[in-house]
Amino acid sequence: MKFLDLHAQYKSIQKEIDKAIADVIHSTSFILGKQVEDLENQIADYIGVKYAVGLNSGSDALTASLIALGIGKGDEVIIPAFTYIATAETVSIAGANVVFVDIDAETYNINPEKLTTAITQNTKAIIPVHLYGKPAAMSQIMSIAKQYDLLVIEDLAQAIGAEYNGQKVGSFGDISCLSFFPTKNLGAYGDGGMLVTNKKEVVDFIRQWRIHGQSKKYYSNFIGVSSRLDTLQAAILLAKLPHLDSWIEVRRNLAQIYSDQLADIPIQVPTSSSNEKHVFHQYTIRIPNKRDEVRQILKKKDIPTMVYYPDPLHTQKAYSKFTKTNDSFIESEKASNEVLSLPIYPELASSDQKMVIDSITQILT
Ligand SMILES: *Cc1c(COP(=O)(O)O)cnc(C)c1O
Repeated sequence: MKFLDLHAQYKSIQKEIDKAIADVIHSTSFILGKQVEDLENQIADYIGVKYAVGLNSGSDALTASLIALGIGKGDEVIIPAFTYIATAETVSIAGANVVFVDIDAETYNINPEKLTTAITQNTKAIIPVHLYGKPAAMSQIMSIAKQYDLLVIEDLAQAIGAEYNGQKVGSFGDISCLSFFPTKNLGAYGDGGMLVTNKKEVVDFIRQWRIHGQSKKYYSNFIGVSSRLDTLQAAILLAKLPHLDSWIEVRRNLAQIYSDQLADIPIQVPTSSSNEKHVFHQYTIRIPNKRDEVRQILKKKDIPTMVYYPDPLHTQKAYSKFTKTNDSFIESEKASNEVLSLPIYPELASSDQKMVIDSITQILT
């Protein structure tokens, strides 16, 4: 059994993908070809914002967002302590200070109540992460941001298509950042990322930033970088985008089956409220005390699982000198010790899912 089977997905849309790739190769328009702009327009429409800019990676989208919003030295940016390292790292790369806030035990997303206590006069922005594809508490976060005059950058890397109060996440903040890393719900065949926004000035800046600060070839207006979404990747993503909603539906159905079948086992299954649409980038259960033991037994049965993430960010070596010792990240630490992600992807065979369910049931009852 595979934790994720990207080959199975390719096989299901092979014709479309092969044609998309061949078209780019024949056109030889490898850098910022027409497909990049087409994808930018389609993703902006899909999320319900005005603009999108394709970049090299989701991490670059985060860095670009911070720079475009003028966030840097002396500024503080609030992020959850339990997320992928890129969320923190890009804040540091932009020159600002990371301020970690603990997560909520049920949602795994930033705890809005604890968020307020982390705000200082240097706080400039909040980066909520929609972890595992579950929307963060956007109404609370947006009202806190409004009250304290803070910018909001949504880390949408795991949650394209997710909704909160009937609105797509990614359309709440000032800027939102997507990753097309191959394993994401909308994944390229290599690295790729994008940011979406309604702010014209941000888009004007980043369209230059990604080509060395140039608005005209060989004339740089400011120091930029080299960070474009490849035309090849854009073409692949254009072929995949029409399938995204149906893939999300399959993920949600698989999640429902897991949650129904595992309901009587002493584990915590993902919670979901009626005002949100979770896109289940991961289906993550929580096993107090014996997560690692269960994981080992599953491994022996050839059932792959993953731990996202084994260490919260405030305990990472990279952030050792940034840690405020008096802060409490108890829920982030607990989650790191207890979470276990099960195989979930549109092509997952129901016989495989049944095997996962039966094995967990057997181990824990
Ligand atoms: C994948 C991911 C990123 C970074 O995306 P890359 O395209 O790999 O740079 C950022 N934040 C979160 C939460 C992610 O899962």
